[in-house]
Amino acid sequence: MRRITLKGAELEGFPPVGPASYIKLIFPEPGQTEPVRPLPDGPRAVSMRTYTPLAVRPEALEVDVDFVLHGEGPASTWAAQASVGQVLYLMGPGPGYQPDTACTEHLLLADDSALPAVETILATLPASARARVLLEVISDAEQRPLHSAAKLEVSWLARGTNHRAAGQPLAAALRTLAPPGPDTRIYLACEAAAMRRIRQQLVDELGVSRSQIVGRGYWKLDVVNHPDHDYGDDA
Ligand SMILES: Cc1cc2nc3c(=O)[nH]c(=O)nc-3n(C[C@H](O)[C@H](O)[C@H](O)COP(=O)(O)OP(=O)(O)OC[C@H]3O[C@@H](n4cnc5c(N)ncnc54)[C@H](O)[C@@H]3O)c2cc1C
Repeated sequence: MRRITLKGAELEGFPPVGPASYIKLIFPEPGQTEPVRPLPDGPRAVSMRTYTPLAVRPEALEVDVDFVLHGEGPASTWAAQASVGQVLYLMGPGPGYQPDTACTEHLLLADDSALPAVETILATLPASARARVLLEVISDAEQRPLHSAAKLEVSWLARGTNHRAAGQPLAAALRTLAPPGPDTRIYLACEAAAMRRIRQQLVDELGVSRSQIVGRGYWKLDVVNHPDHDYGDDA
């Protein structure tokens, strides 16, 4: 992953980070040095992708975004080469997941694309909460300290660079997990097909009710610009 700080006068008034909130970023098209400024009634930018504002520093007019460097794709390619002074357009933020803070038990299951989302969720949990966190990343080098007032039990699961194995480490780790109780709230965000499989696994193998799970497909294998509102409701 690579952290990029976006900075600009236009970020004045950018609200504080919300749990798993999102922004839209517009990247340059091939041959452009900077993207075309989007117009309210203009065509939708081709190279627009969805990301998580991980940290906001309003006084410095800065927003941090962590990019998974997964290979081909306008966002990943841009992030890999980004240097000071380059220009992007940012729209948003929009709301994400509202954790039930009255609930004491949380289970967060995510791959690296949703690691920033998980961090922003953890930041909202109170000291009375307990969160089990399973994070699938490419390698152990991606591990980092997670901060929360809640009591955390964190497992890092290395997938390797084979994106076709997306979700497999999460699914394997779930097989050894003590079943979540009926009051546990579960946030599950990763590759879209894996999200559907893991949700089914939670229901079939761990006796979880569907209503306890909020699922989000953050990207999809072999799909360019997977829609940002994939909740897996078709499954
Ligand atoms: C609400 C929300 C918040 C998100 N926040 C973040 C974030 O903070 N950081 C982040 O890195 N991603 C985040 N994502 C995921 C990101 O939007 C997608 O990964 C996006 O497809 C990346 O665009 P791209 O231009 O790099 O690749 P695309 O052009 O969309 O896709 C090109 C190819 O790359 C593959 N691909 C795309 N993403 C990945 C990946 N993560 N791993 C492996 N292969 C991939 C696709 O399957 C496709 O074959 C978020 C998604 C959502 C819905």
